[in-house]
Amino acid sequence: MFESLSERLGGVFDRLTKAGALTEADVITALREVRVALLEADVSLPVARDFIKRVQDKATGVAVTKSITPGQMVVKIVHDELIRVLAGDGEPDALKIDNPPATILMVGLQGSGKTTTTAKLAKRLKDRNGKRVLLASLDTNRPAAMEQLAILAAQVGVDSLPIVKGESAVQIAKRAKTQANLGGYDVLFLDTAGRLHIDEVLMDEVQAVRDIAAPRETLLVVDGLTGQDAVNVAAEFDGKVGISGVVLTRMDGDGRGGAALSMRAITGKPIRFVGLGEKMDALETFEAERVAGRILG
Ligand code: GDP
Repeated sequence: MFESLSERLGGVFDRLTKAGALTEADVITALREVRVALLEADVSLPVARDFIKRVQDKATGVAVTKSITPGQMVVKIVHDELIRVLAGDGEPDALKIDNPPATILMVGLQGSGKTTTTAKLAKRLKDRNGKRVLLASLDTNRPAAMEQLAILAAQVGVDSLPIVKGESAVQIAKRAKTQANLGGYDVLFLDTAGRLHIDEVLMDEVQAVRDIAAPRETLLVVDGLTGQDAVNVAAEFDGKVGISGVVLTRMDGDGRGGAALSMRAITGKPIRFVGLGEKMDALETFEAERVAGRILG
């Protein structure tokens, strides 16, 4: 098991002088522990380095009051900085679905949880916001994936675009847009094809669909357990397609969530939702506080 940061720092500061203010030496010693904690939580090295530097600047010379130990003081500074990075500039959690029908493009690698997340979001919009939702799968390579989306749509009680064999992703996207307009839907989700790895064919297809669909939101779904890979995927998709936000799945697993911090720091894009299981209601809006707690242990 991981040792929590508070435990680590408690140990460090027991050996240090309990002076009235954090000295530079105290802070440097403590930040070595913070660095290990961040790396264990899967935060990427450059992001961890940058983060540590900012905390060091903030912590040196800070007065330690009697009610708080030096260790607690450093944990608080680290915690506040984590929240600052994770929460960003206060972007609203809500998806932009005004002016219906609003198209939401779902992108990501195969197996990231894209289809599941699409159905979860549809259920959420229907149940909580009373929206009429249409789902369409563009995964022409995998008929099973198209059927899976139709099954999940029926399960959560929203409509899915009838499957027509032989159409390209762009043709399906066009038909879905028309259907969303004619059918009076509020929201249209386009579940794009995923592949095991990012390649040019995938990116070209997603770009072509994006150009036709003119999405209000482009959400990237990434497996939160894949750490650094997840960050690379996010940077790549953002560069090629442009994303408006991220959904981190499998946050119910035992990963420490460091990918969230790296992703936020590297892409600057907000994490909108987290997936917390396979069930259709296992989706929550992203809360910086909770993920910060998890990273710190
Ligand atoms: P896609 O290929 O990206 O569309 O992936 P799927 O939506 O088919 O999901 C792949 C697997 O991951 C399925 O078995 C899902 O039930 C599972 N899954 C998706 N999201 C989560 C999550 O947040 N937590 C867990 N534990 N499993 C998930």
